[in-house]
Amino acid sequence: MIPAAFEYLCPKTIPEAIGLLQQHGEDAKILSGGQSLIPMMKFRLARPAYLVDINRISGLSYIHEQDGYLKIGGLTREADLEASALIHAKYPILADTSRAIADPQIRNMATVAGNLAHGDPANDHPATMLALRAEIVAVGPEGQRVIPIDEFFISLFTTQLQHGEIVTEIRIPEPPPRSGGAYFKLERKVGDFATAAVAAQLTLDDAGACADAGIGLTNVGATPIRAARAEAFLRGKIPDAGKIAEAAQLAAAEAQPSSDLRGPEEYKRALVKELARRALVRACERAGI
Ligand SMILES: Cc1cc2nc3c(=O)[nH]c(=O)nc-3n(C[C@H](O)[C@H](O)[C@H](O)COP(=O)(O)OP(=O)(O)OC[C@H]3O[C@@H](n4cnc5c(N)ncnc54)[C@H](O)[C@@H]3O)c2cc1C
Repeated sequence: MIPAAFEYLCPKTIPEAIGLLQQHGEDAKILSGGQSLIPMMKFRLARPAYLVDINRISGLSYIHEQDGYLKIGGLTREADLEASALIHAKYPILADTSRAIADPQIRNMATVAGNLAHGDPANDHPATMLALRAEIVAVGPEGQRVIPIDEFFISLFTTQLQHGEIVTEIRIPEPPPRSGGAYFKLERKVGDFATAAVAAQLTLDDAGACADAGIGLTNVGATPIRAARAEAFLRGKIPDAGKIAEAAQLAAAEAQPSSDLRGPEEYKRALVKELARRALVRACERAGI
């Protein structure tokens, strides 16, 4: 399919990009990796009259720690996460997540920021960012604001982002010692979106009890879901097999799946339970239990 005609705009700075987005209003869309937007345009599900390509803006591609946060730049690609020694050493849940997305060609282009900004509950990073308690930095006509991830996803394909706002950074609090996380996904075939997936991030205290837990669910609701009751259940408890099984059961109860071509509701709920169990076990191993 060939997209409808559009005008291609290529700003070199953030203020220039914001200006173009303001000038052309709702007819303009930001283009980053293009791995969601271009397919939607080809299917005529999106028909922007102007594409504001932010790829020529310099200084937006980085992964580093600073001021107690892991900072991921707005143009950082999935492939950059996969290749990062820092990510593998300290944030393996992010490496798990990137690796689970589509195929290497798509990951060479797709950005982490675009994955979040798209607001697709089937995308993989949203649940992981819930588990990691990330913050989204957006710059727009009114300046910069920082949006906690729990406030970011509003409904299907709808986020807190206002027209003209560009995600310039994702911030993740640096995990304390004895932390670990993992992302487990089931897909029908390699490269597919998740039938369901679970992200889990744990921090253990000196006694081996769970000091903090973050659990996010993918593609079992209109938005990514925080399994808050499962998180609360784990806090203060030693995450042994029994406690993990109970937490996984709670996470499954918090899922809101619907039956579709990827399977019936009951199957997806059972899947969340098993994926949550596996993600929690792996998170414990990585936290050093
Ligand atoms: C065959 C295929 C399989 C896929 N499988 C998966 C999968 O398994 N899991 C998964 O998570 N994803 C999957 N994807 C989606 C892919 O990861 C997308 O790239 C991602 O969802 C969007 O990132 P992007 O950089 O390509 O954004 P784009 O496609 O450029 O943009 C997507 C949307 O976000 C907006 N946007 C982009 N960047 C910004 C920004 N910095 N600030 C504000 N708004 C912005 C755009 O205006 C647009 O509305 C798949 C894609 C394809 C084509």
